[in-house]
Amino acid sequence: MKIDTIDRFLKKIAIIAIIFISATILPAQRRTAKSLDHELAIAPLSASSPAGDDIKMPARVRVELQKGINSARQAMRKKKCAALFGDLSNAGFRTVFDLLNTYADNNLIRAGKLDANGSRFRNEDVGATTVAGMGSFTNAKGVLQSASVITINQKGFYFTSRMSDSNDVTSVKGHGFEGLDMSGIRGAVIIHELLHAMGRIPNDSVELLNDRGKQSIANSELVRRTCFR
Ligand SMILES: [Zn+2]
Repeated sequence: MKIDTIDRFLKKIAIIAIIFISATILPAQRRTAKSLDHELAIAPLSASSPAGDDIKMPARVRVELQKGINSARQAMRKKKCAALFGDLSNAGFRTVFDLLNTYADNNLIRAGKLDANGSRFRNEDVGATTVAGMGSFTNAKGVLQSASVITINQKGFYFTSRMSDSNDVTSVKGHGFEGLDMSGIRGAVIIHELLHAMGRIPNDSVELLNDRGKQSIANSELVRRTCFR
């Protein structure tokens, strides 16, 4: 291989390596096998602000999105919930509220039918996904700072309260949302994704782990126990 070919090859690997996908999911009854390679292959490698359908977001969707953000904000008032995020100063945020508001105000928490990589959500059981490095915002120093993009699945349980088997998500036991109403579930989904964005909970990509959602459930359980009880 020529040097420049090797160089390009290494650059490509480096770009792919910084992309991770994590999701809030419920164990799916129907799961289509889809390799992570495929998801990465179609990632727009140069786009810092991938085209989402957020601009066409209907007013109703905006309202539901805002409800979740408000619910998350309320739960974060609990000290032990805020403590899940640890010290945010290295990430450039003063408090968890600064983090939440920055993400909300910069369209880094959005709803769509595609995630930030342009991939379709597997099914209604995927509440949201967070993709690292796909967004940005101007920080307090006036510097453009890289950020994750959180996309709430517009067809998922966050909006419809229904899972792929048409059961109501509030009736599902032992999978991270037990005992919560829709307001709590929405807040929990957003906190879960913000924790991914800050790298505070393990990556729980089902495609990567092939664990039938076990790690995602563990992450959701942590949020439920700490922030909603
Ligand atoms: Zn997750």
